[in-house]
Amino acid sequence: MMWFEGKIIMQNGQRYTCVGSKPHKGRDGGTVTLVRWKSLCATCSKPFEAAYVDGAAPSLSRRCAKHKKPGVPVKRVRK
Ligand SMILES: [Zn+2]
Repeated sequence: MMWFEGKIIMQNGQRYTCVGSKPHKGRDGGTVTLVRWKSLCATCSKPFEAAYVDGAAPSLSRRCAKHKKPGVPVKRVRK
């Protein structure tokens, strides 16, 4: 997919504006495209930036770093 500055996507009812993309070295050594998005925090309405690797399932944050919801499951301690 082609990403360009100004491209707007909707995810979960939230609007994200693309602010650019750049090549990024992937874990497997290949080059992937890292796409940066700008959105407004769902809590404080302040703009924040999020990024994800093109091709991966987009799961953009809905909040700024300050209000990021701890929706990540707690890591299990392996014994
Ligand atoms: Zn916020």
